[in-house]
Parts: sequence; structure tokens; C-alpha cells
Amino acid sequence: MTEKRIRLPEHGLSRSAILAEMDAARGHDVHWQQGQVFSLVFDAGDEVNELAKAAYTTFFSENGLNPTAFPSLRRFETEVVAMIGELLSGQGTTAGNMTTGGTESILMAVLTAREWARANRPKIAQPEVVLPSTAHPAFDKAAHYFGVKAVRVPVGDDFRADVDATRRAITLDTVLVVGSAPSYPHGVVDPIPELAALAQQRGILCHVDACVGGMMLPFVRRLGYPVTPFDFAVPGVTSISVDLHKYGYAAKGASVILYRNAELRRHQLFATTDWPGGIYASPTMTGTRPGGAIAAAWAVLNFLGEEGYLRIVRTVMQTTVRLRDGINAIDGLRVLGQPEMSVLAIASDKDNIYEIGDEMSVRGWHLDRQQLPPSLHLTVNYAHRDVADRFLLDLAQSVLEAREPSLRHSSNELAVKAARTATKILPGRLVSGVTGHASALFGGEAGLPQRSAAMYGMMGALPNRGDLRELVLDLLEGFTTPASK
Ligand SMILES: *Cc1c(COP(=O)(O)O)cnc(C)c1O
Repeated sequence: MTEKRIRLPEHGLSRSAILAEMDAARGHDVHWQQGQVFSLVFDAGDEVNELAKAAYTTFFSENGLNPTAFPSLRRFETEVVAMIGELLSGQGTTAGNMTTGGTESILMAVLTAREWARANRPKIAQPEVVLPSTAHPAFDKAAHYFGVKAVRVPVGDDFRADVDATRRAITLDTVLVVGSAPSYPHGVVDPIPELAALAQQRGILCHVDACVGGMMLPFVRRLGYPVTPFDFAVPGVTSISVDLHKYGYAAKGASVILYRNAELRRHQLFATTDWPGGIYASPTMTGTRPGGAIAAAWAVLNFLGEEGYLRIVRTVMQTTVRLRDGINAIDGLRVLGQPEMSVLAIASDKDNIYEIGDEMSVRGWHLDRQQLPPSLHLTVNYAHRDVADRFLLDLAQSVLEAREPSLRHSSNELAVKAARTATKILPGRLVSGVTGHASALFGGEAGLPQRSAAMYGMMGALPNRGDLRELVLDLLEGFTTPASK
């Protein structure tokens, strides 16, 4: 393979050439503007986006690392954190920070639990976090980064955390119990009051991951839909993560990590006093903190206010109900569990759901594929208010299409069979290579699979998850290496 090495252009290009090239590059991206993309983009309309952009660019150069240099950002951050604290029944006693996203918020929650344990449970050598199988992978990442053990507990038939199983998984080394409000895969809210009570009885911490739900559920509840209690009103909940760049409709790079009180948050903070560069203190993972994301979040929260969010959430819930009922009305399809807001998973008892997903891709819909059990994922937001009917029509069509015996389906099945056979006769590392190549064959640009059914079939055929992990790391390596033109 001849790789083209990319280096700085010797002479700078013109502004217009650069912008034209970037515009052309965007042409290959998913077109979220038409409301056919789920989960990656949250869009509350032009007015909100324009304001967020204006606020972002106004604070484009400012750095949230030093609040004494930029009291403006300090004010925006503390006000955003305070507003979210009030929204989540914080009673004015919560403390927290803005972070760059849900992952960083969760990293902070796990770090804080570890540091809390070091201070309060010094005998624990290997702290453990107990969490449902559906909790976000950011917790595994946090456990991996911070030397904490993640103990995953299977969920019940309703896809919610299993309280008894959680109780049994808690040991003397457990420092943190996690629940999601709602879980990303199925949109169901874990039984937070019961989970938090378990933690409280044992005198340990309880984190609620409301990354996707924190800006929805308080309004969903106010609109009269039933919502499982999940916030600081629940005794025993000690921290909550809430993403503003999801249903807060803020600019990307904005989330909040909140603690029940400042004493707990103290364990999150970092300071060193011996550096020749001066005394250095930082509240979260990052050093330099982009002012734009903080300013844009503040602007959007103040622009929409309670009324604005209520209006948006009402529309989102109406759209969700239409979609949910429409999906359940399609022969063979059903929504998994009882989603409490606008995140849901579609499964099929009759057909290959990944084939259906591929048919939806052909029709321009960008849906995530899920496993255990196989399903397609929907994160309904304001951008989808006018597309529900078209979505349902295309979905019904896709089911029929996927059911048709066609050449492609049988070649998919052949590929899966070939992978199965290969995995029986080849050593693990080689299998990864073979499967990697096979997935590239099915892929479009940069190995990104356009038709995923065969790939998911093959992944399912790999005899152990270690092989699968290697394969995924191969793909990740590919994605973070310049594509040969
Ligand atoms: C999105 C999400 C996260 C991670 O947030 P990022 O902003 O992608 O880092 C964590 N938990 C849940 C429930 C989420 O939906």
C-alpha cells in the first residue's frame, strides 16, 4: 500500500481555498440537517443554533482554566452549574463543574468516588464500582484509567438495573453504585430510589448518569408523563452527570458534573504547589478549558428558559409517542422495554434487525446498531418533529425489503458462514485480520461499513470477545490514520 504522507503545506493556502475544500469534505458527512440522524446531533432549530454560535465565537479565545483572568467565564460556569443543580432538586447545596462532555463528567464521578474512598475507607486496596450492564462505557473507561474495578450486573427483563443482583454484587470494596436516567441503549430509567438506598445503607456513594436524560426528564415529568425519581430529591444520590450538548441543545463540549455538596466535590479537585511554572490548580480533567462551550451553554440555557425547554420537550415527547406506537404497529417490530422519554431501541422477533437497519441506511437514515439483544437505536430530538411519518413509512418498507430473499442477503449469510469456518481453523490474531479485511470489503470509504448486517453477523461469529476487541482496535487505528486518497 502506498501511503501518502501528509505534512504542513510549504506555503499557506488561501482562506477561500481552505473553506471550499472543507465544504466539499462535509459533502460526505451524514446530513443531520434533514432530521435523518439520531444520537450524534441535537438540533433545536436555527434560532438556538445561531445564538450558540454567536456566544461560542464571542468567547472563542477565552480560557476557562484561569477564572481570575476571565471572571465572565467563571460567572457563566457557576451559573450554569447552579441552574442545573436547581433543575435537579439540588436545594441550593450542590456543587459541581462544567466539563467537555458526558465522558469527562463520568470520569470525574468515578475519580471522586475513588478519592473519597481513599480518604474515608483507607483499608480498601482495590475500589469497586457496581453498575448495570447497560450503563455507559465511559464508566469502564474511568475504571480503566483510574485503577478501579468495574463490576457489571445484568439487567432484568425490563432492561432496568436489577436491584437484588446489585445488592449481591456489592462487596466491602464497593465505593460507588451507578444507575442511569435513562440508560442509553434502551431509554429506561433504572430504579434509582432502590439503588441509592442500597448505597446509603452501606454508607457509599451513588452516581446517577443523567447525561442523556438530565435536560429532558424534569420537563417530561412536568408535562405529566410518569418518570421514575432520579435526582437529588432521592435520598442517597450523591452525584449526577448531565450533558448540555445533548438535550440542552448547547454547543458540543458541554456537560455538568454535580455533587450533593461541596465536601464531596472537593475530592475531584486537583492542585499542585511545587511546579516552577507556579501554583497550578484545575477542577476537571482538562487543563485549558475552551471558553466557547461554556459561554454557548450559558447563552442557550438563558435563551430557552423553562418555558422554552418545556415547549421543546412537549414536541419531542409527542414525536416519540408517534414513533413508538408506529413502530409497535409494524408487523415483527417492537420497542424494547418501557422507555420513559425519547430514547428507544427497536428489535425484531421475526427478521434480521441489522438487515432492516441497512435498508434504512439506503433510505438515508442514520441509526446506531446495538447488540445483546440486537436492535436499532433512536434518540428522538427536536430535529425529528417533522420526519416521524416518513420514518415509519421507510421502516415498514425496510422490513418488507429485508424479508425478501435476495442475492445480497444470501451473500451476507455466506460471509458470516465463511467467518464462522475461518474462526474454527485459524489462530485468533489471524481471524481478526481476516474479519477486518472482510469488513473492509463490505465497507464504503475508509472501511466504514455501509452495510453492517454482514459485519455484525461476523462479529457475532467470533468465538471470543478478545478477538472482537482486537478487530475493533484495528478499525479504530484505521479511523485515526489518514485515509489514502
Ligand atoms: C452520551 C452519554 C454519555 C457520554 O457522553 P459524551 O458526551 O458522549 O462523552 C454517557 N452516558 C449516557 C447515558 C449518555 O447518553
